[in-house]
Amino acid sequence: MTNPEQERWSRVKEKLRAEVGEDIFQSWFSRMDLERIEQHTAHLSVPTRFLKSWIQSHYTDRVLACWQGVNAEVQRIEVSVRSAMIRTAVPKAKTPEIVETGRDPRIPRLDIGDLRAAYAPVSTGHDALGGSPLDLRLTFESFVIGRSNTLAHAAAKQVALARRGEPVMFNPLYIHAGVGLGKTHLLQATTWAGNNGAERKVLYLTAEKFMYGFVSALRTQTALAFKEALRGIDVLVIDDLQFLQGKSTQAEFCHTLNALIDAGRQVVIAADRPPTDLESLDDRVRSRLAGGLVVEMGPLGEELRLEILKTRVTAARQYHPSFDVPAPVLAYIAKSVTHNGRDLEGAINRLLAHNKLTGQPVTMEMAEREVRDLIRPQEPKRVKIEDIQRIVARQYNVSRADLLSSRRTANVVRPRQVAMYLAKTLTLRSLPEIGRRFGGRDHTTVLHAVRKIEGLVGNDAMLADEIEVLKRQLQE
Ligand code: ADP
Ligand code: MG
Repeated sequence: MTNPEQERWSRVKEKLRAEVGEDIFQSWFSRMDLERIEQHTAHLSVPTRFLKSWIQSHYTDRVLACWQGVNAEVQRIEVSVRSAMIRTAVPKAKTPEIVETGRDPRIPRLDIGDLRAAYAPVSTGHDALGGSPLDLRLTFESFVIGRSNTLAHAAAKQVALARRGEPVMFNPLYIHAGVGLGKTHLLQATTWAGNNGAERKVLYLTAEKFMYGFVSALRTQTALAFKEALRGIDVLVIDDLQFLQGKSTQAEFCHTLNALIDAGRQVVIAADRPPTDLESLDDRVRSRLAGGLVVEMGPLGEELRLEILKTRVTAARQYHPSFDVPAPVLAYIAKSVTHNGRDLEGAINRLLAHNKLTGQPVTMEMAEREVRDLIRPQEPKRVKIEDIQRIVARQYNVSRADLLSSRRTANVVRPRQVAMYLAKTLTLRSLPEIGRRFGGRDHTTVLHAVRKIEGLVGNDAMLADEIEVLKRQLQE
């Protein structure tokens, strides 16, 4: 493939990312590659059949529109499944091999934003059930511990090292964090380490794979076999639970969860939000999920970012011994690329690509140029409804219980409306969800509150100020 084509493909991906948002992009498109453009058709590939059918049924028009914005000659897109999957058992040695998947290795790719794709996905060996591929590099050894993830790391390690038959200490272990903060890394590390002794079976599944496994098992009438297989494992690890969709899949998930936990098996889950915020799951599942250990991983601090960068450079040097990044450059990246772990990885990949393709050493100037677009304004903090309630209650001198109560006296009605308004504007929660979190109110009540406050702030400068102050406190 020619470089201009790759470059256009990068632009298409950026457009898509901007349109669908980072989460959706990462889930469905981050592993999509351009194979070639031929006769007005862009041939794209993804690693699984599930991704293919999902993208075809939900995103064909979107993807095509993004293409046409960049290259009007493209009139169709074709999505296929990449076949070059290398299947091996759990490797003994930790040294990753670089294996190209279906690409001509002689052609350097300018866009190596995701070097991960260049490593062969490796199956966990639980193919009866089809565990999701694991990345060889995501181990405990390469996981850097810092203030934001100490607890999550310790809990995951404990799960990984537990022995068969030992009582389970916390079940499920539920880890939540924003995008790129290390959930997948930690879960895969747990899976690698847990499977190492081969005494126990640890199965890693993305929620997408869980859905796909289940749906296809139903289709081939082997739902029973699927359940049996699931129940034959010691630790079930499910990543990105927020993507679990569909009533029957959820019901099945609920059964599986209960069956495993009741049988004393360990369940480990990661999601981008706490259990209480998984709106599409029903109450029973939510409370079961919240009943184990729930740990949040916070944003990566600067020190942690620096350590991650150093680990990445060391890893890259195994294959590219001449690659070197001076300490001030690392410090600069750690300071300025604050967003998440993926961007840190991306930054190092770009420096490596530049260094390899041009042969020039990495300098501060080059780093500034290469990572410019990774320096984003600070992500607004994830605001929680509980925090809104707490801070609003404090501000107006009422109790949080008052806000949730059915009392309708003026001194609680207004604060309650303000809190609902803030919940709607500062979080992604839906109106029914907000109603539920405010003492089980109807969504129309929430809508009314939001409209009411919106109407008032236009005329009432004091209220507008108050709300600004509250927002600032919440986003600090
Ligand atoms: P998430 O699943 O939470 O979106 P990932 O686990 O995919 O995030 O992490 C994104 C990138 O950041 C990966 O390259 C991962 O290796 C790296 N990363 C995140 N946290 C850490 C950490 N504590 N130590 C080492 N690498 C990390
Ligand atoms: Mg992840």
